[in-house]
Amino acid sequence: MPQEAKCRAPNLVVPVINVNKCEGKEDCLRVCPHGVFEMATLTAEHKAKMSLIGRLKARVHGNRQAFVMHPDACHACGVCVTACPEGAIKLVKVGG
Ligand code: SF4
Repeated sequence: MPQEAKCRAPNLVVPVINVNKCEGKEDCLRVCPHGVFEMATLTAEHKAKMSLIGRLKARVHGNRQAFVMHPDACHACGVCVTACPEGAIKLVKVGG
């Protein structure tokens, strides 16, 4: 069976979203070929860890942001990092 072309380094990295930068524009959801992201509403616990500016920005966007719901599905293609207009996503080594 042929290997998937984009499957380079599964599970070596996971995407991490900067909650103070995400504006919930959903580009990551649209471009990720592996369904890693989902939209969700920030909880009080999430907001307690955010900066004042981050909370104000989130409020403007209805407190909806992208979340990394399926990190094990990430194949380290980097498409989400490039696609995010806010530069809110970086790939972080697992265990690093
Ligand atoms: S690096 Fe690729 S597979 Fe991983 S979350 Fe981003 S778009 Fe999805």
